[in-house]
Amino acid sequence: READAWELRFEQAQTRDGHRVEVAANLGNTAHAADAVERGAEGVGLLRTEFLFMAYSSAPDLATQIAEYREATDALDGRPLVARTLDVGGDKPLPYWPVPQEDNPFLGLRGIRLALTQPDVLETQLRALLMAAVNRPLRIMLPMVKDVAEFRAAKTIYDRLLSEIPSHERATDVQLGVMIEVPSSALLAPTLAKEVDFFSIGTNDLTQYTLAIDRGHPELSAQADGLHPAVLRLIQMTVDAAHAQGKWVGVCGELASDAMAVPVLVGLGVDELSVSARQIPLVKARLREFDLADAKACAELALSKATSDEVRDALEAR
Ligand code: PEP
Ligand code: MG
Repeated sequence: READAWELRFEQAQTRDGHRVEVAANLGNTAHAADAVERGAEGVGLLRTEFLFMAYSSAPDLATQIAEYREATDALDGRPLVARTLDVGGDKPLPYWPVPQEDNPFLGLRGIRLALTQPDVLETQLRALLMAAVNRPLRIMLPMVKDVAEFRAAKTIYDRLLSEIPSHERATDVQLGVMIEVPSSALLAPTLAKEVDFFSIGTNDLTQYTLAIDRGHPELSAQADGLHPAVLRLIQMTVDAAHAQGKWVGVCGELASDAMAVPVLVGLGVDELSVSARQIPLVKARLREFDLADAKACAELALSKATSDEVRDALEAR
């Protein structure tokens, strides 16, 4: 089966009955974009730019960042790049950007909150992304957004850059979206969806914060299952809110490459799955195994259950 999946890796990602779902790659390194394309990626759905910053001893300057991002956009050759702005704090330390000692770093200064304390770093990154993606489709997403106020604060900088940088020197096919990985943003998805261009659901953090289980906890992390019905309801709310406003939704957490979860996510209406590059042929093969109607039935079944074990047992039996 793996050999078949590899053989068919460049086929367009779709269900057996032809329902399109984009399959993209999660990357931590722009040098790996070419390899992702070789594995059948239809784009990059999550570029974790904090890894790029970690490779330097201080924040990379504008020219350095432009060169980095251009390596990805060149390799993608017209396929979309979804780049996440710096997501530092919590489980993602950056040595030269120390966060004050906190009792609860996962509930502390991190993600967009931290970025907004040094807007010049965020501004340079946004400028570099925009300038790297001339004539290329670019989607920029903000991590750990909890409500529309944080989105607006970042969008103010973004809008100013769009007016400052001449349009021939920057991306014009560009969207600004948010990650949905904090329960409040899923609950408020109807208000966020009016202002953002897209959502990408980070099921790793969304599961952690919904179930109150540390995603890296040595004993508990196995219980941090994104197929928990509480998480699935938040995903459903997010997708419904986005589609009501004509916006698209991706999933870029681990759940997107879970063979049992793929039909559930598609049945909930997810438009894009972003997974590690090596999983791309397998996720495409998984999509070819079911129809959209099957997927909707899986989603309905999963939502009717009370625990993640019940969800997995029911899907297995099906
Ligand atoms: C997530 O939280 O699901 C996600 C994709 O981001 P990260 O794993 O980098 O926190
Ligand atoms: Mg996350």
